[in-house]
Amino acid sequence: PLSTTDHVTRRICVCVRKRPLNNKEITKKEIDVVSIPGNGALLVHEPKQKVDLTKYLDNQVFRFDYAFDETSTNDLVYKFTAKPLVQSIFDGAMATCFAYGQTGSGKTHTMGGDFAGRQQNSAKGIYALAAQDVFTYINHRRYANMDLSAYVSFFEIYNGKVYDLLNKKAKLRVLEDDRQQVQVVGLEEVYVSTAEEVIKMIQMGSACRTSGQTSANANSSRSHAILQIVLRRNERSSTLHGKFSLVDLAGNERGTDVSSNDRSTLVETAEINRSLLALKECIRSLGKNSDHIPFRMSTLTKVLRDSFIGEKSRTCMIAMVSPGMTSCEYTMNTLRYADSVYDA
Ligand code: ADP
Ligand code: MG
Repeated sequence: PLSTTDHVTRRICVCVRKRPLNNKEITKKEIDVVSIPGNGALLVHEPKQKVDLTKYLDNQVFRFDYAFDETSTNDLVYKFTAKPLVQSIFDGAMATCFAYGQTGSGKTHTMGGDFAGRQQNSAKGIYALAAQDVFTYINHRRYANMDLSAYVSFFEIYNGKVYDLLNKKAKLRVLEDDRQQVQVVGLEEVYVSTAEEVIKMIQMGSACRTSGQTSANANSSRSHAILQIVLRRNERSSTLHGKFSLVDLAGNERGTDVSSNDRSTLVETAEINRSLLALKECIRSLGKNSDHIPFRMSTLTKVLRDSFIGEKSRTCMIAMVSPGMTSCEYTMNTLRYADSVYDA
């Protein structure tokens, strides 16, 4: 059962999604330490040790707008998270949906679905479901007289640099003008008229993401991928009407697994931590209606500046967790982060 928070009027929605144990974990007799009793609650049975070294499980309780258990489908998650945001961009909003969590927790499965390029017949992800709804609304009589067109951009941020996934990973500059408008110079913005065209762009971009890496260490779990669906009015100036940014964030695993002395890995990790911290601060400022949004803290928050500013900004964060005991520490980190955003 899902809680019935009014997600349509809230500016920030924070949810958590637990993936099922996979076959490898089942074979290894991995213990599932995450339970979801309902009403947005989630429990982690955290392994602890007493002073006399006897082991016990300590229940940590979290509460969010929604908590999706391992039986929930992408369709269901979409309906309660991104779908209301798609509606909002038709009303002129700058909306963002983030997938947050450790590598392997289900971010790409949720956002990209089968368009991550691995599975053939698996469920559609939020990218494709959102694209379908965009065209349903564009063709709906309620919005027909607005004469809107849709465009997509797809890019990646790795080590603070922007790479265009729709243009052979061209490295792009981020500029801020004197009116504080942020621009990714030369970013491809492709006109699209059907959901299928969007899906084709996503497939193209995802393939580009995992090939021709710019550095030996670069892999998709260390970069943020951002798909933007932009609505423009069909007038000569083609004014921006609304924008939806869908973000598959880099894995949030901390320096803990960076026992290596590899300098480039350390730099990479530091950059990821910095951008995730910046993101948290920006969403928190948005939640508090603060005038000061620290978007300059990272490239990620810079390019998403529009989404944190103005009355019509809307954000949804989906925190992904792996169920296994061996992931417990990462899971707790993810939940604490999501909790601090939820608290704003
Ligand atoms: P991430 O992008 O966070 O690193 P992935 O989305 O690639 O993680 O997921 C890791 C693996 O787990 C993939 O094989 C994916 O298909 C699977 N997976 C993730 N979430 C689910 C889910 N809710 N149901 C079934 N399989 C899932
Ligand atoms: Mg991924």
